[in-house]
Amino acid sequence: MASSPPAEAWDPASWRTKPIKQSPPYAEPEKLAAAVGELSRLPPLVHPNEIIALKAHLRDVAQGNAFLLQGGDCAELFDYCQQGPIESKLKLLLQMSVVLIWGMNKRVVRIGRMAGQYAKPRSSPTEMVDGKELPSFRGDILNGYRVEDRDIDPNRLVKAYHHSAATLNYIRAAVASGIADLHRPLDWGLGHVRDPALKTKYSDIASSIQQTLRFLQTINARPGELESVELFTSHEGLLLEYEQALTRLLEKPATDGRAYSPAPSEGKEYYDTSAHFIWIGDRTRQIDHGHVEFFRGIANPIGIKVGPTTPTSDLLALLRTLNPSCEPGKITLITRYGAAKVGHLLPQHIRAVEDSEYRRCVVWQCDPMHGNTLSTPTGIKTRRFGDIYRELQETLRIHKNEGSYLGGVHLELTGDAVTECLGGSEGLDEDDLSTNYTSFCDPRLNEKQALELAFLIADHFAQ
Ligand code: PEP
Ligand code: MN
Repeated sequence: MASSPPAEAWDPASWRTKPIKQSPPYAEPEKLAAAVGELSRLPPLVHPNEIIALKAHLRDVAQGNAFLLQGGDCAELFDYCQQGPIESKLKLLLQMSVVLIWGMNKRVVRIGRMAGQYAKPRSSPTEMVDGKELPSFRGDILNGYRVEDRDIDPNRLVKAYHHSAATLNYIRAAVASGIADLHRPLDWGLGHVRDPALKTKYSDIASSIQQTLRFLQTINARPGELESVELFTSHEGLLLEYEQALTRLLEKPATDGRAYSPAPSEGKEYYDTSAHFIWIGDRTRQIDHGHVEFFRGIANPIGIKVGPTTPTSDLLALLRTLNPSCEPGKITLITRYGAAKVGHLLPQHIRAVEDSEYRRCVVWQCDPMHGNTLSTPTGIKTRRFGDIYRELQETLRIHKNEGSYLGGVHLELTGDAVTECLGGSEGLDEDDLSTNYTSFCDPRLNEKQALELAFLIADHFAQ
């Protein structure tokens, strides 16, 4: 094979030499510089050992030996940094994992869209609110949803760091204190799930898991390992000023990060310590632009959104730029075509990747949310649960046909009983949307709708 030309030099600021999409119009450069200066002095939010451990888990996913569950809000608000909302999202992700582990008989890797999912790409710089044209809400990290808070305030970048830190701190505390203890799945409570059929199905699975655990305990198998789980954090890496300030040149863990090791150092790498995993959104994946430039230099596992506007040739160019050494698990392709388009587009994307040097190297993850957004005649942003379900079902079927492995799912969900997506076993219709619609961005699955999707995946793999 011909040797590849040396990669262009990279540093955490080299993205600034490239064109960029979705860059916010900061009006106060001194305030921005002060905020970025402060962020650069604050400690990392996550540790390289954790980042490398996640990459090792994702290698297992790419090779078909584990499954990736990623979920959380579309736009996390600073206000969600409270015990109740954090716990209910954690519990929902854990309940879904129980269903998946039971159905697939594989380990589940969990990543929250949490502790940093504060920045939103927007299709227009302004939006109409109550008949008035306002600067668009770009997420709590830049401006506020309230009419009087729409100007960009660079101090919010620092606030975002502190809210991420507080959220992550509570996630770590709750997990360390046994919120995830698999011996007690029935204590997790089904919250708002009222549907008797769903409840029975979940309880049956939970008690069969308990029986198995009792047996394992009796024979003293792997003590300790079953009491807790890992939960990693993620967000869209949209604001490169923020991501750059948290990117640090740090010692590379000597092992695969699963344990501290006294072995000699293997050198240093750049880690984006704002989260374990960050992804490039559908609007910012231009190969010669700033986001791809930034992402190509960090050691974290990363995601790329792939949709109807991704040419097949771009896909391989992106993989070769972002993962030239074909490191398995480094890249997650997050596919989001829409139920009507997935059948036509996914097979050609799978073939391009699986027929190349990236075979069994990427994690294929289905995001059945972002290709299925619609507006009701009265202008409410929603999604039909039926479309979401169909895109996931189609994606599972296509991967099976192509001989590839659907390794994960990426969902917008909340532990609260929201009424934002139409349908599901409760049969929510347009009139129900106003009952409890609280999203400031895209519509999320409620607990019941999210569990239904977990059952779909579990049933598919249990067959
Ligand atoms: C998102 O994940 O919230 C998002 C904006 O997705 P996409 O980039 O796929 O449109
Ligand atoms: Mn979204």
